[in-house]
Amino acid sequence: MPELPIQRVGIFGGTFDPPHFGHLVAASEAAAQCLLDEVVFVPAGDPWQKQHRRITDAASRLALTRLAAEPDPRFRVSTCDIDRPGHTYAVDTVADVRAEYDHPVDLYFIFGADSLENLRTWHRVDELCKVVKFIAVNRPGHSRREVDTSTGIEVEFVDMPGVGISSSECRRRVANAEPIRYLVPDAVDDYIAERGLYRS
Ligand code: ATP
Ligand code: MG
Repeated sequence: MPELPIQRVGIFGGTFDPPHFGHLVAASEAAAQCLLDEVVFVPAGDPWQKQHRRITDAASRLALTRLAAEPDPRFRVSTCDIDRPGHTYAVDTVADVRAEYDHPVDLYFIFGADSLENLRTWHRVDELCKVVKFIAVNRPGHSRREVDTSTGIEVEFVDMPGVGISSSECRRRVANAEPIRYLVPDAVDDYIAERGLYRS
């Protein structure tokens, strides 16, 4: 039987510096609970909301994201934000991911509850609302109730088992020679160790 075309697509943008199991559980739960055919991980090129710290080069973050996401057949990685010059804006990401399909798809934008708290400040968010549906996953320390009242934008909530892992904590651990085994996929851990990433 021919496979049905991919119809419902989740876009999961992030710095992924590095990707960890919180990202993978979020993508997996969004896919399962919102019946997504695939989730596209989109590593940011130049994240404007993180200019206060140096971001690891895009090639390394892309390699890490591939190692983390590609073993799962429901996940793929798009380089559209890395390939596009200038700042990364979600509206551009959505347009570029849509163009990666040769048929119409329904797009869902996935993010953690912490990102939802500043959704109002996102560049051209009103335009974004018209072309995607938002999916928020819970993240420890960011309650659903808080999030709900802080924006007027309609969001579908996905309850996932809380994963208290962040990329910042992974970077801090590596810098302090502490393990990140079991916080990130083994292949990610190995790549970080081999390349000496995040060492202070
Ligand atoms: P950093 O600590 O550098 O900010 P991060 O762990 O927040 O990194 P990002 O790349 O900033 O990772 O996040 C990408 C997306 O994944 C965001 O929407 C974020 O809210 C979500 N996310 C990250 N970690 C988790 C987690 N543990 N649980 C749920 N969502 C998460
Ligand atoms: Mg973050």
